[in-house]
Amino acid sequence: MLAYTYIRQGTFQLLDKPKPVLLHPRDAIVKVTLGSICTSDLHIKHGSVLRAVPGITVGHEMVGIVEQVGEAVSSVRPGDRVAVNVETFCGQCFFCQNGWVNNCTDPNGGWALGCRIDGGQAEYVRVPYADQGLTRIPDSVTDLQALLVGDVLATGYWAAKISEIRSGDTVLILGAGPTGICTLQCVRLYNPEKIIVCDIDPTRLRFVQEHYPDVLTVLPEQVDAFTQANSCHGGADVVLEVAGSPDTFRMAWKCARPNAVVTVVALYDGPQVLPLPDMYGKNLTFKTGGVDGCNCNETLALIAEGKLDTVPLITHNYPLSRIEEAYDLFEHRKDGVIKVAVRPDGTGE
Ligand SMILES: [Zn+2]
Ligand SMILES: [Zn+2]
Repeated sequence: MLAYTYIRQGTFQLLDKPKPVLLHPRDAIVKVTLGSICTSDLHIKHGSVLRAVPGITVGHEMVGIVEQVGEAVSSVRPGDRVAVNVETFCGQCFFCQNGWVNNCTDPNGGWALGCRIDGGQAEYVRVPYADQGLTRIPDSVTDLQALLVGDVLATGYWAAKISEIRSGDTVLILGAGPTGICTLQCVRLYNPEKIIVCDIDPTRLRFVQEHYPDVLTVLPEQVDAFTQANSCHGGADVVLEVAGSPDTFRMAWKCARPNAVVTVVALYDGPQVLPLPDMYGKNLTFKTGGVDGCNCNETLALIAEGKLDTVPLITHNYPLSRIEEAYDLFEHRKDGVIKVAVRPDGTGE
């Protein structure tokens, strides 16, 4: 089968590899119907994910059809359409029991697919702990609608959920990339008074204006004054930092009002400065982290109800055989790309 593979720093290659097989009773083999490309794949390509293993098939965003299950798998059966979770988790350890699945203590716990074990930019993928890692897609939800459920939408949902958003709040979201827009959709579920989205890229802000006309947009230069002007208590009540740019951490706490929650979803390339003397007395609450991606059933239900819709984010389609071109487009942000659907069945253009 075709599998897009991490060869060494700077090089991914489409290789012909053997189809994966069940290795454990809790595994499932999934025939991938749609995959996508994530910024984290680019981080692997550029060598900044140190635990990524050369030789692995990349890709951790995918949906597919269950082909085969191990004898201990009970929640899915061959033929089921499923969303694959970016995170591998056992469901039994202390962290899993508390819903903190990102910190599952299993050796493959956390982000393993397409990083430490073979992922889904391929025709088939082996999913460990299939009862945890796979979620059945409701009949009324298409594969395309479910494509982002396991990764970027899971991140947005988790970020909004932990941010303690209340109905009168002004919520500031820094970053209008794929994760920023998923975060925006999930923040809207909490009905805050105002949502402000800030990004450096006017094309991305235009996308937000077109699809979410009730949301305010602003460029980084004006974000401080604009947030002051559009909030009641000297800053945003909640800030979600999804950009991860050199300046955006500072922006996040500066734009927050006293006693605000600042949720840092972003993954930075380097350490950030936490200037405690400057923020003394502001009494901020910081929440940080990597997604605990265990709410796929809820997000799929919200998609079925029409309350979440990530289809507009998928701006381009490529067959797996041309994934190289899809990476070039995604990496260099050509042609207004937000997300790409990669189709192992060869359709897509
Ligand atoms: Zn990702
Ligand atoms: Zn666990």
